[in-house]
Amino acid sequence: MAEEFPFEISPMFEGERIRKDGMFVELAGPKAVGFELVSATDMDEVEDGKFTLIGPDISEMEEGARYPFAMTYKIAGELVEADLESIVERRNHEFQNYIQGMMHLNQRDDIWVRIGKDAIEKGLTSFEQVAKAIMMLFKNELPFIEKVEAVYYTDEAEINKEIESIRDIYTGRDERTRNLHDEDVDTFYGCSLCASFAPTSVCVITPDRIALCGAINWFDGRAAAKVDPEGPQFAIPKGDVIDAESGEYTGVNEVAEKLSSGEYDRIRLHSFLEYPHTSCGCFEVVGYYIPEVDGIGWVDRDFTGTAPNGLQFSTMAGQTGGGKQVVGFLGIGVQYFRSPKFIQADGGWDRVVWMPKMLKDKVSEDIPDYIRDKIATEEDVTDVESLRNFLKDKDHPILERWEEEEEVEKEASAAPQAEFTAPQAGFTASQMQMPTNFAPSAPMVGGGGGNGGVKVILKNAKMSVDRIIIKKLD
Ligand code: SF4
Repeated sequence: MAEEFPFEISPMFEGERIRKDGMFVELAGPKAVGFELVSATDMDEVEDGKFTLIGPDISEMEEGARYPFAMTYKIAGELVEADLESIVERRNHEFQNYIQGMMHLNQRDDIWVRIGKDAIEKGLTSFEQVAKAIMMLFKNELPFIEKVEAVYYTDEAEINKEIESIRDIYTGRDERTRNLHDEDVDTFYGCSLCASFAPTSVCVITPDRIALCGAINWFDGRAAAKVDPEGPQFAIPKGDVIDAESGEYTGVNEVAEKLSSGEYDRIRLHSFLEYPHTSCGCFEVVGYYIPEVDGIGWVDRDFTGTAPNGLQFSTMAGQTGGGKQVVGFLGIGVQYFRSPKFIQADGGWDRVVWMPKMLKDKVSEDIPDYIRDKIATEEDVTDVESLRNFLKDKDHPILERWEEEEEVEKEASAAPQAEFTAPQAGFTASQMQMPTNFAPSAPMVGGGGGNGGVKVILKNAKMSVDRIIIKKLD
C-alpha cells in the first residue's frame, strides 16, 4: 500500500532529525500553537478514510516558514473505548516519524513537527498524503480501529477556537488517576514505544506515576494491554513490595532486568537519586540535582532560558535521555508533580528549590502551601549563589539538610585524620553514573584542614573500590 505515497514509510525513519537547513516548514512547536487529539466515536459518526484540511496546504506554504498545526482523528470500532484515545494519539507520534522526511516531537498541545525539503522534492504536496498514510497505519497496526477520519488544521484562528476545550479533555484524562494509587492495584503497565531510540529504556506507568512523555496514564496502559496484548503496552505484575516509600517492587525489577538486557535490575519509581526510573528522551520536564544547595531543580521544554546551574533544557535533556538510569538527572511527565508520591524517597517537595515561572504557575495548585513561595524561579535568582541566598531568606526546608551536613562536617573535622590517597584506577561508582557536568562542589569539600589536606564527603554514594593505598608522607 505504501507505493501510493510519494515517500517511504518505515520504522527505520524513526529518530530521523530534520535540522533547520534541511527543513521545508516547521509546524506548531515552541513558537506556534498546535495540538493533536484522538477521539473515540460511534461507528455512524465516522466516515472511514475521509480527510479534511482547514487552512493552507503544504503546496501553499512558504519555504522556511513556521505555521500553526493541529491534527484530530475520530476512531470507531466495536472494541474502541475512550481509554484508548491517548494510546492511539501516542501512535500518531510514532507513525508520523515512520514517514521519510517528517519529524514529530512531543505530544498533546506541545507537538512540534518539521517537514524536510527532501520530502517535498520527492512529491509531498499535501497534508492529505500524510493523513492517509497515518490512517492506513492506524488500521493496519491497531486492528481494533475499524473506521478512522482525520481533520488537520493550519488556520491559527480555528486552532485557537478549539484549543481550550482540547486542553480540558487532556485535563479530564489526567484527573482520572487522582484517586487511584500504586497500593490500590496489583498490576502496573510498561511501554516499549521508545525502545527504538533508547534500547535500555524501561518505561513503567503506575497510578502514581504517569509516563514520562505525559501521554499515557495507568488507565490508558490498561486499556491498550487489554485490547492488544502483543502490542507495545504490556502488563507488569507488581510482585512483592521491596520498599513502598521509594516505590521498589520485585515485578518491576524483573522487567527492568529483562528490558534493559541486564543493564539495570533495580528501579525505584519514586526516587531521584537512587536507582531512578530511566529517561528515554520524551520527558516533558528534566529534574537536575544542584549539589551546592543539595536540592533539585526542574526545567521544562518551554523554558528557553538558563537554569541556575548555567545549563539550558536542551543541554540537560542531552545528559538525561537515551534510556539510561542517570543519577543526578531525571525525566518526568508534568502530571508527576501532582502525584502524592512525587520523588518521596528524596524528600518530595521539600527537596525542590527551583522551577521556571511558567512551569511553577502550571502546577501551582499541587505545590504544598507551606513551600510554594520558597521555590525560586528565574525571576528570583540567576545562579547558584543567588539561589542559596534566596533559600536562606525564605527559610526553605532544605536548610535542615544543610544543618545536618554541617554537623557531619564538624564531626568529621573532630575525628582523627588519616592520610588518604584515593585510588587512581579501578574506582567505579556503580549506580552513580555521574553526568560529565555534574559539578560536585557541595558534596566534595576541598581545602579542609589547616595543612592542605582534602576532606571528601560523599552522600548517597555507593561505590566499589578495588584498591586503597595508604602511604606515610615524609
Ligand atoms: S515515554 Fe514511555 S509511555 Fe511514552 S511513548 Fe515512550 S515508552 Fe511509551
